[in-house]
Amino acid sequence: MGIERSIETEEQTRADQKEPHRIVDTNLDDESGEQTDEISLRPVTFAEYIGQERLKSNLKLAIDAVKKRADGSALDHVLLYGPPGLGKTTMANVIAHEMGANLRVTSGPAIERAGDLASILTNLQPGDVLFIDEIHRLRRAVEEILYSAMEDCKLDIVIGKGPAARSVRLDLPKFTVIGATTRTGSLAGPLRDRFGLIHRLEYYKLPEIKRIIGRTAKLLSTEISDEATGLLATRSRLTPRIANRLTKRVRDYADVHGDGVIDVELATRALAMMEIDELGLDPADRNMLELMLENYGERPVGLNTLAALTGDEAATIEDYYEPYLLQLGLIERTPRGRAITEKARQHLAKLHSISN
Ligand code: ADP
Repeated sequence: MGIERSIETEEQTRADQKEPHRIVDTNLDDESGEQTDEISLRPVTFAEYIGQERLKSNLKLAIDAVKKRADGSALDHVLLYGPPGLGKTTMANVIAHEMGANLRVTSGPAIERAGDLASILTNLQPGDVLFIDEIHRLRRAVEEILYSAMEDCKLDIVIGKGPAARSVRLDLPKFTVIGATTRTGSLAGPLRDRFGLIHRLEYYKLPEIKRIIGRTAKLLSTEISDEATGLLATRSRLTPRIANRLTKRVRDYADVHGDGVIDVELATRALAMMEIDELGLDPADRNMLELMLENYGERPVGLNTLAALTGDEAATIEDYYEPYLLQLGLIERTPRGRAITEKARQHLAKLHSISN
């Protein structure tokens, strides 16, 4: 058993990833320089994976059933969706581990041509788990190859060109696709239909985030008080990736400005330095809310206009920034665009009164 991270095209996607410019950026892992930390922080068993209880019990049942049948059948294909940083990739690792299977990792944008997918598929071993991140970004031609592969383990490929071209059907071993997406809406119906298990990952509850912070601190061999754990949890946007990142940043701060122990006073100072407020918002979130308020009041603003105002890409706002603001009730989506809520106005007013 092992994690096969060597699919060529994946390296390219990883290379495209930048060091996050925002501490609370949920976009991809901040692995540059921290890869070893990140990997060792990833839970590998259901027991270690905190929260998402409904998802875990459904998956456990499905895995136990496959194991009990012992007829060589693979686990049904699994589609995991929800905002970034909630543990989709981690769950793919856990599933492969619990199945005793190899995990192959790739992503929608990394598979450029049908041939790329064909070579990934023909290299699979029986029972392998193929994780496709950002599966909504697969190209149509690639997606079509995936249909018959997922449905009846057949690979239809065309060999040669022009009049000499002929199509060949190859048998593939039984395997499981785990697809991850932030947007199920962008997934083509026929692709979606090929997943037997479809699950949404929810934002975590505060006590779960606390447990994640406690676990991370322990793995980092850092002492943290209960009160400081609670404080970091409230600033973590109910997202494990951010909880881990804040814990690491505050640990660094404690190493430099304290004696390495994280207490509430030190955590408060570190968070103030990072400009993370009590709702877990950072300067970029506040800037977006301020711009909406200044220019539109409580009237809705279209996504593209908002992107032009903030200088971000519309997809970035939609996938990474907005889900948490919606979850907190600071903005709402209306048919005419996004509107700032009374709660956000009060939050900004409170911050202003503190700074004045
Ligand atoms: P996604 O694929 O949804 O963007 P990841 O699976 O990469 O999210 O998770 C981000 C990080 O958060 C991981 O590196 C992992 O360490 C941590 N993490 C995610 N889910 C959990 C969990 N349930 N329990 C503990 N840590 C978690």
